[in-house]
Amino acid sequence: MFTDLHSPLQQLKHDALTQLWVKRDDLIDPYISGNKWRKLKYILQDATAKKKKHLVTFGGAYSNHLVATASAAARSGLKATAFVRGEKVNNEMLVLCALYGMELIFTDRETYKDKVACYTDYSAAHQDTYFIDEGGASAEAALGCAEIITEIPQDTAHLFCAAGTGTTAAGLLQGIQKAGLKTRLHVIPVLKGGEFIREEMSSYVSTADERLILHTDYHFGGYAKTKPDLLDFIRTFTAQHGLLTDPVYTAKMFFAIDDLALKNYFGKDEKIVALHTGGLLGIMGMKDKLVL
Ligand SMILES: *Cc1c(COP(=O)(O)O)cnc(C)c1O
Repeated sequence: MFTDLHSPLQQLKHDALTQLWVKRDDLIDPYISGNKWRKLKYILQDATAKKKKHLVTFGGAYSNHLVATASAAARSGLKATAFVRGEKVNNEMLVLCALYGMELIFTDRETYKDKVACYTDYSAAHQDTYFIDEGGASAEAALGCAEIITEIPQDTAHLFCAAGTGTTAAGLLQGIQKAGLKTRLHVIPVLKGGEFIREEMSSYVSTADERLILHTDYHFGGYAKTKPDLLDFIRTFTAQHGLLTDPVYTAKMFFAIDDLALKNYFGKDEKIVALHTGGLLGIMGMKDKLVL
């Protein structure tokens, strides 16, 4: 499952940008999508090495991470359980989780806050459990994401990614440092007050690095929030390029690239790579907003 990687680098002729490329991690797998595949690679390796049989993880009701974990567990012959934040709901994402055999435990927000306590209680009554944090955040996850750097051109001047927990961004910066590249890493936090991402990243990598640039003004009101500007951008961009983006993560990243290009941020013919982190299943959760 974690071999035979299919993630081509595709050129995108967008406006005046002559060297914009998309790293198509969204094509790796429809269900273990994008950066979730990268993150789970070494997490599952670690779980298997420790002879664990049962993954226990956490997420919101629209979490790409939950679907990815459910799918990866089923394909690896492991059990999976998820603590799902909030009251019981049903949606496309949770249907997939359930089909893959994941046990869903809906958990009120107060209880959910203490994930370690949830896990400790649960694992007392179950055998061979393995803790995976929300979004897969871990050193193993960062390591998997660092490998992306070996698959992009060394003369990439600007690499863009969207950030939720910042683990993917941390891995990318690790990879850049290890390879000694000049590539600047542009991180687009999708939450308000995105400066906290630097702090999150510093658990995995030295963030005192001039190559790291945070763009904190492209959150569009916060996590899973949108504005008419962003929805217009998604419609135009999708029809123009035939490339799907999701309103929570990658659309905000492509919007940022588009906006920075309009402001003449990039040098002429500088190579720009946008990491498409996948997550397209989530689009269906926004269908009422996206419909014309
Ligand atoms: C989960 C996710 C992210 C956020 O990754 P982090 O490592 O948590 O910053 C970005 N893009 C997509 C599509 C995702 O599903």
